[in-house]
Amino acid sequence: MYGQAIAYHIDCDDALCIPCFRAAYGVSHADAVVGRDYGSWPGFEDWSEPVAIFEDTTRDTPTHCHECRALIEHDLTDEGYAYIAQGMIDGFREGRQDDVVAQWVAYFGQYMPGEIEVTINGAREDIDTRQATDLYALLPKEDA
Ligand SMILES: [Zn+2]
Repeated sequence: MYGQAIAYHIDCDDALCIPCFRAAYGVSHADAVVGRDYGSWPGFEDWSEPVAIFEDTTRDTPTHCHECRALIEHDLTDEGYAYIAQGMIDGFREGRQDDVVAQWVAYFGQYMPGEIEVTINGAREDIDTRQATDLYALLPKEDA
């Protein structure tokens, strides 16, 4: 019913990767949670304990660890891929190849679905994202 837990939400905004979860909650407590059998889990009820992010999770936005910024490697919806395509382009264009954008390229690059409409220089354009690691090369050269 539920897949493997790959991270935990500690509240509605913040998630922790497994290593940071262990550091924050203590290894024995964390391992009891991580080893939980989710087969009988009733689903989210409240924040009395961290909530698992499962490996088969699909979201509209990427998730990063609140502590170490590691990408939580779950799938994205089409809206999510459009979001990161725009984020990659904005990041590249601003010369901001920070660790977040670099992680998106490294992980989601292999899954990018093809043509996505993005905003470049204020205009909507379709770009082919299948070579997401080469997105920079797809962009128009710097405006004059
Ligand atoms: Zn972390």
